[in-house]
Amino acid sequence: MPNSLVVIDDLVLANRILYRLGVVDGFGHVSVRHERDPERFLLARNMAPALVTAEDVMTFALDGTALGDPRAPYLERFIHGSIYRARPDVGAVVHSHSASVIPFGVVSGVTMRPLFHMASFLRGAVPVFEIRDAAGEDNDMLIRDGALGDALARSLGDGPVVLMRGHGSTAVGRDVREAVFRAFYTEANARVQADALRLGAPTFLSDREALRSSESNAGQIARAWDLWSRLVSETG
Ligand SMILES: [Zn+2]
Repeated sequence: MPNSLVVIDDLVLANRILYRLGVVDGFGHVSVRHERDPERFLLARNMAPALVTAEDVMTFALDGTALGDPRAPYLERFIHGSIYRARPDVGAVVHSHSASVIPFGVVSGVTMRPLFHMASFLRGAVPVFEIRDAAGEDNDMLIRDGALGDALARSLGDGPVVLMRGHGSTAVGRDVREAVFRAFYTEANARVQADALRLGAPTFLSDREALRSSESNAGQIARAWDLWSRLVSETG
């Protein structure tokens, strides 16, 4: 059933932007908390993000149950519900399998940290979710139920991003624009950190620098969003 909520427009744009930026491909998904009911969230049906329209958006309870909608949902919708339940401050969630972040979840002794100011929201070390700790060796790497979603939310803690070993990453924000910004610049930080590690030992942003920088950037997210939304609106 079509939704008339204000956040739907941004959610549809976010799907297309994340594809255009290379954060998602045929897989990955983005959700937003329901603007009138914090116990619900909105997420597209099971489909490629770049093809999502307003008519494809479904409404879910935080336990991942689709509300009055028989269409097939994403298997990993529990990522979203569990994080919304654990984090009242979170208004949007992006989950992706982008390749650049994968090395930082699988090599012991290498931690993703903010290397440049656009990723200063990553302040400190980015946590890594190890699915074996929650599901044991007999798992298919996917967050396919609420217990695994809750375990992932615990790994995320109160941070902006959690890496998922051998799988991808999940970024959160107060709204969909901040979550998209963070997902994109997490990917960018992974690329520049891998480049820097090939040259030598990088100097990361200190916690103080990261805090000051992220405060400065908070007012600039609209600038990136305006560009990205124009890009996908003009080119479909
Ligand atoms: Zn996934």
